[in-house]
Amino acid sequence: MPLLGAHMSVAGGVSKALERGKSIGCDTIQIFTRNNNRWVSKPIPPEEIERFHEQVKATGIWPVFSHAAYLINLASPKDDLWVKSMEAFIDELVRAEKLNLLGVVLHPGSHMGAGEEAGIARIAAALDRCHEATEGFKTLTLLEITAGTGDHLGYRFEQLAEIRSRVKHPERVAYCFDTCHAFAAGYDFRTREGYEAVMDEFDRVLGLERLKAFHFNDSKHPLGSRKDRHEHIGQGHIGLDGFRWIVNDPRFQQIPMVLETPKSKDMHEDVENLRVLRSLIE
Ligand code: MN
Ligand code: MN
Ligand code: ZN
Repeated sequence: MPLLGAHMSVAGGVSKALERGKSIGCDTIQIFTRNNNRWVSKPIPPEEIERFHEQVKATGIWPVFSHAAYLINLASPKDDLWVKSMEAFIDELVRAEKLNLLGVVLHPGSHMGAGEEAGIARIAAALDRCHEATEGFKTLTLLEITAGTGDHLGYRFEQLAEIRSRVKHPERVAYCFDTCHAFAAGYDFRTREGYEAVMDEFDRVLGLERLKAFHFNDSKHPLGSRKDRHEHIGQGHIGLDGFRWIVNDPRFQQIPMVLETPKSKDMHEDVENLRVLRSLIE
């Protein structure tokens, strides 16, 4: 059975996300461990870290992974933003390691007009510094495939592979496959044949053994639109089949699949999206 879940709010403390996830039947969850649109966040109190570990055991929810703050841009050509981004990402890794998380999902970054080659070099150099500052950590840096909006890098498997090939500690780097982003970037996995071709290409370029997490989002915009707008499962341009192939793929039964679709406080949209996904399991 695939591991299905959703991004969960940490309002009231990181451990609360596990209770919330459990209440709607998540097997796995993603969280923010710091304010996602501020540079500095207070450290997580030690007693909250303890409660988090207890709640992981009590709920059985696993894996848990985090998503890095949106402000972080390791590709930035501007030194002040680049340094701030590294400091923030190091803090993301420290929090994730303390919570024993699988990894931290990271958007590779935007080159802001400096060009793709310059951006990729900048990301690899930044990751080296972040990994050296957190030597020996087990938590992974999970590079997310992007829709390729504007100057954002990571919309081709080859770009993600290039980043990993340049870092000094490639064992620290794995990947997150966002269905909306991949589809918006032009990867068409709506048919069985299309799906097999995309996964073969992923395997050839990146290695399926490095695919450690899925973000499950349908897409408001068509194939190759390069636009990042998430839609509820089955209600966008991907449609149900794209998700059917993934949840039934024997290679991915231990890989977390997490929703990042629009939701309200009572989470009824997550409940419905999880029901739809589970109905696809054969
Ligand atoms: Mn993301
Ligand atoms: Mn995503
Ligand atoms: Zn997105």
